[in-house]
Amino acid sequence: MRLKDLGEFNFIDRINKAVKLSGRVIKGIGDDAAVLRYSKDKYQLLTTDMLVEGKHFYKSDKAELVGKKAMSCNISDIAAMGGVPKFAVISVGLPGSLDLKYAEGLYKGIKKAADMFGVDLVGGDTVGSGKIVINIALTGEVEKKNLTLRSGAKENDAIFITGYIGGSIKLKHLNFTPRLKEARFLVNNFKINSMIDVSDGLLADLGHILKESNKGAIIYENRVPVSKSASNFNSALRDGEDFELVFTLPGPVAGRLKKIWPFKTKISEIGRICSSRKGFFLVRKTGKAEKIKPAGFAHF
Ligand code: ADP
Ligand code: MG
Repeated sequence: MRLKDLGEFNFIDRINKAVKLSGRVIKGIGDDAAVLRYSKDKYQLLTTDMLVEGKHFYKSDKAELVGKKAMSCNISDIAAMGGVPKFAVISVGLPGSLDLKYAEGLYKGIKKAADMFGVDLVGGDTVGSGKIVINIALTGEVEKKNLTLRSGAKENDAIFITGYIGGSIKLKHLNFTPRLKEARFLVNNFKINSMIDVSDGLLADLGHILKESNKGAIIYENRVPVSKSASNFNSALRDGEDFELVFTLPGPVAGRLKKIWPFKTKISEIGRICSSRKGFFLVRKTGKAEKIKPAGFAHF
C-alpha cells in the first residue's frame, strides 16, 4: 500500500495508535499542539510545522515572507490552544548553491515574527539539502483554566470564526498575522469550549472539532465571511492556510462577545453545535440544508 492510498490523516492515526505515553502527557497527537504537565497552574505546549520548497512556497517567493510564515504557523497553533508562545528551535535544509542573501532573508523573517510575539530562538540544526526545508518546533505555556482543545465543543455552542476565509494561496498564506492577541482575549474573558486554527480549510478543521468533540453542527452560507481573493464560496470552505481561528462558546454569551470584541479583526458567528446524531449541515442562502462531508486539504 502506498501512503496516498491511506491518506494523511489515517497515517497519523496509525502512528497515534502505536505510541505509548508517559503520565506527563495530557494530550498527545490530535490537537494543534501537545499538552504536557508543567506547573501547578500551567501546562506546557509543544508544536512543530515544516515548510517544503515547491509545496508550501517557491524559491521565487520573498525569503523574508517564507521565514515569517514558518514561525507564524507555529505561533498560530499555540494560539489555537489558548496559550502564549515561548521558545523555538529551527532546523533548515539548504542547498549549498543557495544565495546567502536568501538564507539570511529567511532568518530575518523568522526573527521578525519571533520578536513580534515574544518568542526566543534557542537552537536548531543546519543540513545540506536539494530543496529548501524549514522546520520549527515551538513551546508555549497556557494557564490550566485557559486550555482550549478541539474536543470541548458542547451542544448549543455558537461557532465563530475570525477574519475571512478562502483564496489564501494568492498572498495571505505567506503574510498573515497569527491570531494570538485575539485568542488570548477570548480565553481570558470567556469560557471557550473548543478552538482550532484553520490550516486545512474551514470544513475540514471544524470537522476536526466535531470529530474530537463527538458533535454535529449547522453553519449558514450567508454568515460565512469569504475573502475577496477566494474564487467562490464552495472553494473558500475548503481552501487551506487561512490561519484564522474557529472556536465555540456557549450560545447565550455570543452576544456579549460581539459587543465587547475590541479588535479590528472581524469575528463572525457562523452557526451552532448540535448533537452528533444530527450530523454536519450547511444551510444555503436559499434556505436549503445540505449534509457536509468535511473534506479539505490533505498532503496525500
Ligand atoms: P496542524 O494543522 O494543527 O499543525 P496537523 O493536521 O498537521 O495539525 O496534525 C494533526 C495532529 O497530528 C497534531 O497533533 C500533530 O502533532 C500530529 N502529527 C502530524 N504529523 C505527525 C507525525 N508525522 N508524527 C506524529 N504526529 C504527527
Ligand atoms: Mg493547527
